[in-house]
Amino acid sequence: MLINIVFYFSLTSFNFEPNYSFEKQKKMAFELPKLPYEYDALEPHIDARTMEIHHSKHHNGYTTKLNGAIAGTELEGKTIEEILKGATSQSGAVRNNGGGFYNHCLFWEIMSPNGGGNPNGELAALIDESFGSFDAFKDAFSNAAATQFGSGWAWLCYNNGKLEVCGTANQDNPLMDGIGCNGIPILGIDVWEHAYYLNYQNRRPDYINAFFNVINWDKVSENLNNAK
Ligand code: MN
Repeated sequence: MLINIVFYFSLTSFNFEPNYSFEKQKKMAFELPKLPYEYDALEPHIDARTMEIHHSKHHNGYTTKLNGAIAGTELEGKTIEEILKGATSQSGAVRNNGGGFYNHCLFWEIMSPNGGGNPNGELAALIDESFGSFDAFKDAFSNAAATQFGSGWAWLCYNNGKLEVCGTANQDNPLMDGIGCNGIPILGIDVWEHAYYLNYQNRRPDYINAFFNVINWDKVSENLNNAK
């Protein structure tokens, strides 16, 4: 009798919500985020064609390949932060595309057509405390970006109550264990040639200067609050 009742209820719940168990089992794939502005919104500092190729080809490629690399593995269904943490001991496909996915998501968000100027509030105070002044931070960040050999990124990270600047190669990211660059990234600049070559060719320092005109400091402040 009891068995019959249990069987009846499991049958009914299956009939009434036929997709329930399937939905629960479905692992969400990572999705290419929409840009929070138009492709031409950052001109003249970053040109529309570069933004379009960068987002619709490069970032889209990292996203698709990341999904392919984790499909059917124990990484499927984990957050991108969880995947990045152990990515240095994963395959190149997971490390490179996981980093590529995360890094560009951050990158689009910390730029804005209304960006530039100086940070304020707590972020400005912590920059002063950590680097001495905003100009000293700008020099350190620009230097990390300019001297990153080959393809990579320069970062501003929150680490144990302080802000630090560091650089990573390829699509590596400070969230990866053992990368030699610690903390939680709150600002980053992509110094791969695909990020600037159409407009700036080999003049990476000009691109880095221009980047400061589009930094969305409100978003960086928000990232700092989330990192603490
Ligand atoms: Mn890129």
